[in-house]
This record gives sequence, C-alpha cells and structure tokens, in this order.
Amino acid sequence: MKTNIKSMLPEEIKEDLVKMGQPGFRGEQIFKWLHSGVRSFDEMSNLPKSLRESLDEKYYITAPNVKRKQVSRLDGTIKYLWELRDGNCVESVLMRYEHGNTVCISSQVGCRMGCAFCASTIGGLVRSLEASELIDQVMFTQLDSGSKISNIVLMGIGEPLDNFDNVMRFLELVNHPKGLNIGMRHISLSTCGLTEKVDKLGDYNIQLTLSVSLHGPDDETRSKIMPVNRSCGVDKLLDTCWNYYKKTKRRISFEYAMIDGVNDTPYHAKLLAQKLRGTGSHVNLIPLNNVEESPLRPSTPENLRKFISILESANINVTVRRKLGGDIDASCGQLRRKAMRD
Ligand code: SAH
Repeated sequence: MKTNIKSMLPEEIKEDLVKMGQPGFRGEQIFKWLHSGVRSFDEMSNLPKSLRESLDEKYYITAPNVKRKQVSRLDGTIKYLWELRDGNCVESVLMRYEHGNTVCISSQVGCRMGCAFCASTIGGLVRSLEASELIDQVMFTQLDSGSKISNIVLMGIGEPLDNFDNVMRFLELVNHPKGLNIGMRHISLSTCGLTEKVDKLGDYNIQLTLSVSLHGPDDETRSKIMPVNRSCGVDKLLDTCWNYYKKTKRRISFEYAMIDGVNDTPYHAKLLAQKLRGTGSHVNLIPLNNVEESPLRPSTPENLRKFISILESANINVTVRRKLGGDIDASCGQLRRKAMRD
C-alpha cells in the first residue's frame, strides 16, 4: 500500500526521509515540487535518481486529468470535470471577479445529505476526497487556465464538514507558505449545517468565512427540502452559529436558495428577518438553478423582489448571488451528472 505524499506536510515528509537515511532538507524540496504541479517523481530534477525511485515505490502522487472543460462565452467562467486516479469524477469552477479569481472546489465524490434541490446528492456519496485531491483542484485549475487563484470556496460537490479531517488538512496545506500560500481570509466553506462539526470547526478558531445553507427559517420548510434538518432543527442550528461567531469573531453568511412556492413567501421572509435580527448576519439569496431531475423551480422575480424588500426593511444585510457561467451548467454537480448519463 502506497501513501499519498501530497496530503503530507513538509515536516512529515522530512521525518520519513530522515528515516530513509536522507538529508532533512529534501522534505521541503519535495513539498515544493508537489505543490508546483508535478505529476511524477521523475520530474523532481534536483533529486538523485535512486531517491526518486525509492519515493516512487513508497508513495503515490495524485494528479487529475481534465475529462471535460467548458468555457462560458458570457463571462469567461471555466468549469472543469476532473478524472481522479480511481476513475471517479468531480467538478471545479473558476470564476472571475473584480477582486480576483475564485475557484469553487468539491470536497466529496457525490454527497449523502439528500437536499431536494441539489444535483450533487442524486447518486448518494461515493467517497470523500483526500486532502491532496482538494489541493489538486486549486492547483491544476490555476495551471490549466493560466489564471492566478486568489480565493477558494468549498461550495462544489459534497459536504465539506462530512469530510472534516481531510478538509482541515487541506486548509493547512493550501495555507502553507511553501505551498499555494492562500490565506484563510480568502477561503469560504459552505455547510448544510452539521452542528457538531460546526462546533468543532469553531474550536480551531480559524479565519475562514463560514457559509451556512439555511434555505428555510422554520423546521417545517427546512426539513422538507433538507433531510439534515430533521435531526437538529433550525433553532439549534442558529444557536450553533451564534456560538461559532462568539468563538471566532467571524460573521456567518447564510445561503438561501429561492424556491418557488416552497420557501419564498412573505411569511418566510418575515420569520427569517425575525430570527436574524440584530445578529449582523449576511443573507445571500441564490436564484434556484434548475436541476433536470427535480420538480422544484426558481422563485418568480416578483417574489424575489418582495422577499428582498422585507429583509431590507428589517435591516438585514442581503445580496443576490450573481449568476456566472449560465451557458455552461456551472452549478453544483450538473456536469458530473451529465457525464455519468453520457
Ligand atoms: N454541502 C455544502 C456545500 C455545497 S453546495 C452546503 O450544503 O452548503 C453550495 C450551495 O449551493 C449550498 O448553499 C447549496 O444549498 C446550494 N445549492 C445546491 N443546489 C442548488 C440549486 N439547484 N440551486 C441553487 N443553489 C443550490
């Protein structure tokens, strides 16, 4: 059984190398090679050939292939479907904003959360990604597109907090000065609200931005579309969020997909405003993306407007997510679904 060397920190690689009778400085050298995108030990040209061979016997390097790539003619958004070493596929999306290039990455192959509106969960969970496979999405998007990535959002396929240890390791690796060196304040993590894991994340007190997919202000509405709500409930989730804020001093952003006739009435807006009042929270409304397999439809522009005005008059900070890559199905698991059908 070989070990995944790109999921290791430089000091761990160093420790292994010293055990192999190699000089310690090789650890950092190898880490740098891995995080510059080499696909094999043979490319590590400043290592002796014998060392490259023994590394190859002991470790493997993950490096996905581009299975499909779609470039939006509207705004330059690029969607990648990556093929992983076991043949499974995940998606990443490169989005270009004025404040820099953002990549949205997947944390699992599939998802077991079962949200009614989401394409990623349709076939269930296949497996969680390894830390290096998260790094790869950022690094190979950067290399393939030639665009320097400054921001990362963990909002692709999967539930990041359902893959807690690998995601934490990814954060450590991506933040490393000898690696991609992307700061925590440039990283957002989106969760459907696994409360125990949100608590645990809060204990690490890191400066990333936490987004919580709320999508409903009461249990009746939320449990209908998000099975995860059936075990914990909206009020407990919000308490967990306020605790997280106390621990980290980082305000949470709430995502709210606007679904016609399900969660988009004035009743929902008023209750949402009431529950968030005075917390300084930010609500990001997402016009629902149509998912072929689902009967749910986006809210009408009229209902969206009404919803916004109720939140605004309650002084809630609200934005509507701008749609990028509208011509390339650039949302949540749709490209992977399509590739599976073809
Ligand atoms: N599992 C994480 C992250 C993945 S999805 C989470 O649940 O937050 C990123 C965001 O897109 C979530 O807010 C999710 O609820 C939302 N989303 C999923 N499918 C969508 C769709 N069809 N239209 C709009 N938003 C969707």
